[in-house]
Amino acid sequence: MAPEPSPRTVLAWDERCLAHENGSMLVRRPAADWLDVPHYERPERLGRTLQVLERAGILERLDRLESRRATREELELVHDPAMVERIETACEQGRFATVGPEARVGPDSWDPALLAAGNLLAVTDAVLDGEAANGFAIVRPPGHHATALEPMGFCIFNNAAIAARHAQARGFERVAIVDWDVHHGNGTETIFWSDPSVLFVSLHQDDLYPPGRGAATDRGAGAGEGATVNVPLPPGTGDEGYAYAFERIVEPALRDFGPDLILLSAGQDPAASDPLGRMSVTTEGFRELTGRAMALADELCEGRLVVALEGGYSLEQLPFCNLAIAERLAGLDPAFDEDPLELDIPRGLRDFERDAVDAVAEAIG
Ligand SMILES: [Zn+2]
Repeated sequence: MAPEPSPRTVLAWDERCLAHENGSMLVRRPAADWLDVPHYERPERLGRTLQVLERAGILERLDRLESRRATREELELVHDPAMVERIETACEQGRFATVGPEARVGPDSWDPALLAAGNLLAVTDAVLDGEAANGFAIVRPPGHHATALEPMGFCIFNNAAIAARHAQARGFERVAIVDWDVHHGNGTETIFWSDPSVLFVSLHQDDLYPPGRGAATDRGAGAGEGATVNVPLPPGTGDEGYAYAFERIVEPALRDFGPDLILLSAGQDPAASDPLGRMSVTTEGFRELTGRAMALADELCEGRLVVALEGGYSLEQLPFCNLAIAERLAGLDPAFDEDPLELDIPRGLRDFERDAVDAVAEAIG
């Protein structure tokens, strides 16, 4: 008997996204004179991911989509035209420019910003056309902090929000965005705050960034009340804590909602070695969460799952996490039997994780 064909998984990326630079992490701080501190959101995040995917043989086994830029009309599905104009002008200045809180562009940032949004749209179209079961857009700059009006937190345009609106314009009316980046997806939340047609679920480290955002009691407003689900998790939460949060909160919320498409805002900064988060997720943990998202997509929307890279700043762990996600999406065996970094992380669901998730479930009701 012939083996079942594995569902086709597509990838999208563009080396031109390496050109986006944020400069130093210490701009306008006195310590910048003492030590060169490259910005955390740096080109190597993408470059090293592609290197690991290539060495694992993934790039030759999976289909790469033709790279494209988002059009101005597509950006304006979400963003105010004046914001788009302002960013383009800032990019033309030929030097680093602050365009929002913790958001900067350099002289070569315009093209990468369009390509990041555009490559996610390419994956979204391939999945919505039925050409692919699922896909992974390996892009930068990330997007989930950007609001309709301004860039924020290393993000220029909100790639996932644009993809959600694009899917809706194509007739896929109900979109669920699951955001597991360690930081709260405040931009995406704000864009869809009053909108009942997009379910936004964020798992994040409690009160990390932006400060004061992402409380369990923040549920959306007006017609959108209940279509925002925040799952703040305590520092140290690991694989089992995230899996429990999926079981207890994320999966029931998506079943209640009934999406036509699931978008994953996959920031791999809950990784144990990430410099900007304090979580304990292993490389295998990301494989497991990807599998959970796939099972939900199979159950609820004919497998339609689109994964967008958001944050993730460990230059050591991020490439392996991205590899694990790509392997899981494509149904490929892991390239490594064990976590490649052999991180010594406690196993099993711990009480503080269970209690925190239970408290969120209770607050949501
Ligand atoms: Zn993040």
